[in-house]
Amino acid sequence: RTTHFGYQEVPVDEKASRVADVFHSVAARYDVMNDLMSFGIHRLWKRLTIERAGVRPGHSVLDIAGGTGDLTLKFSRLVGPRGRVVLADINASMLRVGRDKLLDQGVGGNVEYVQANAETLPFPDNSFDCITIAFGLRNVTDKDAALRSMARVLKPGGRLLVLEFSKPGNPLLTRAYDDYSFHLLPRMGQLVAGDADSYRYLAESIRMHPDQETLKGMMEAAGLERVEYTNLTGGIVALHRGIKL
Ligand code: SAM
Repeated sequence: RTTHFGYQEVPVDEKASRVADVFHSVAARYDVMNDLMSFGIHRLWKRLTIERAGVRPGHSVLDIAGGTGDLTLKFSRLVGPRGRVVLADINASMLRVGRDKLLDQGVGGNVEYVQANAETLPFPDNSFDCITIAFGLRNVTDKDAALRSMARVLKPGGRLLVLEFSKPGNPLLTRAYDDYSFHLLPRMGQLVAGDADSYRYLAESIRMHPDQETLKGMMEAAGLERVEYTNLTGGIVALHRGIKL
């Protein structure tokens, strides 16, 4: 199937991975869980991501692993009617919830919804001025392939922003954070979404994700330049940015 902007959609075997099951299971409650689990702080992390993206009217933006579209919503206002934003995700349930939410918010013709795998993006080389992946890279099986794929579809001069859980520097904070995510989080998941396992998976996937310096090296290896990162909330989250020159 070819989409409105002429992209070829890649069929995805949705049962293929555990990740798919997790996000099918949480899609409907995803936004409320985000607010609860992060005490609303994910909104600040996302706001900073938007500020660092440098998106202007007329730009083309890809929000990959965009889920329910928080970043897409902001970008669609920034790029205006001459720009475009592609909200892409591997998971049809998340995309559906995202599209419904954005339509409710009055988002119109400058947003396109594409089911795609970050490892094999179905877009031509040099397509986007900016790409964001927020809390998505840790779910991707082959992260190096995904970073290379993102670098390929960025325009020269374009920016890649990776917002992701990372490694807190302070041992006391690490301890409190471990208690929170391995004990409280699955209980909250059970209570609010009726699903403790998905939130157990979340805590595990966060611990296994590369730390700040490792991810910086991976972005450089994928061909991005001037890679830098900012720790947020004591390094619980980090925002990495790289440029394709
Ligand atoms: N970016 C949104 C946000 O910050 O609220 C959603 C983040 S959500 C935690 C992670 C998303 O990554 C899910 O919607 C999931 O379906 C998607 N995802 C997982 N693996 C993916 C892949 N290989 N390619 C594209 N999206 C993927």
